[in-house]
Amino acid sequence: MYDIIIIGAGTAGLSAAIYGVRAGKKVLVLEAAVYGGQIINTPEIENYPGIKHISGYEFATNLYEQARDLGADVKYEKALSIETQEENKLVKTDSNEYVAKAVILATGAKNRPLGLEKEQELIGRGISYCATCDGGFYRGKVVAVNGGGNTALEDAIFLTSYCSKVYVIHRRDSFRGEEKLLETLKRKDNVEFVLSSVITKLNGTDKLESIIVENKDTKETREIEISGLFIAIGQMPENKDFADVVNLDEKGYIVGEEDCKTNELGVFVAGDTRTKAIRQLATAASDGAIAALAACEYIG
Ligand code: NAP
Repeated sequence: MYDIIIIGAGTAGLSAAIYGVRAGKKVLVLEAAVYGGQIINTPEIENYPGIKHISGYEFATNLYEQARDLGADVKYEKALSIETQEENKLVKTDSNEYVAKAVILATGAKNRPLGLEKEQELIGRGISYCATCDGGFYRGKVVAVNGGGNTALEDAIFLTSYCSKVYVIHRRDSFRGEEKLLETLKRKDNVEFVLSSVITKLNGTDKLESIIVENKDTKETREIEISGLFIAIGQMPENKDFADVVNLDEKGYIVGEEDCKTNELGVFVAGDTRTKAIRQLATAASDGAIAALAACEYIG
């Protein structure tokens, strides 16, 4: 029997764990994959207040160890359902069942696919969603990054130091990502921007060989030969398992205001998986604190 079960060991979930155990609660964190969430793949963080420079891996590991050292339990099990049993919540995972007084959903978001034919079968054979994980496999090769946010810009900067050439393909002619990152990328001499363009086809059988890119304004198409395509077109939540418990918006995010409460009494939501305007490391940590303290208040 736990006081609080937190589903997800990313920044929001682990921050919630820290606040929960520091409030004297018995806390269990359930994680389906690895701790750290999305930030673990970020090469360098320099916008988290109070920390000048840190890698995503080091940040996530510090956070994980901090939560563990303070007394949070972490189990690597996939949470499949939440049921209300009188005053308590029963959480069923792929291997166990746990009971708690409150649950915090901090399930984050996963990489959005392009949705093109062959995309799934070419994952690991030219298609990747993580430059820091897979960039090293493309040393000296020609690659492309698709997307216009911070992830795409950071990925492209990272890849320019390994790859002979990096195409940056973005569907608009201006970037969503930070100006500072864009300026850094523009200074690289092995980058080519392919703007106002979308990828319409992936070519290759056993491995990716080329992509077809269409300019949205002129409708002209172009074939670009590449060994690797890093897709960085944002994230999407995965909350189908909890759709019978909490309200989801049309994109699948869990509906919750700044107080991190959901429509279900005793179930809270924190981090990128919550309906919100700004999804940043700082706002994920902030949500974790708010959700944990709201859960503590609910438990009494
Ligand atoms: P994002 O900011 O949502 O950007 C996604 C990009 O992909 C946008 O440029 C978008 O184009 C494009 N896109 C979306 N769907 C597409 C599609 N179907 N086909 C082609 N392009 C598509 O995602 P992100 O870069 O992964 O960042 C997510 C959040 O994490 C953001 O809040 C970001 O600031 C944050 N982040 C921060 C850091 C940092 O601070 N160091 C690092 C990484 C991420 P449009 O621009 O036209 O919409």
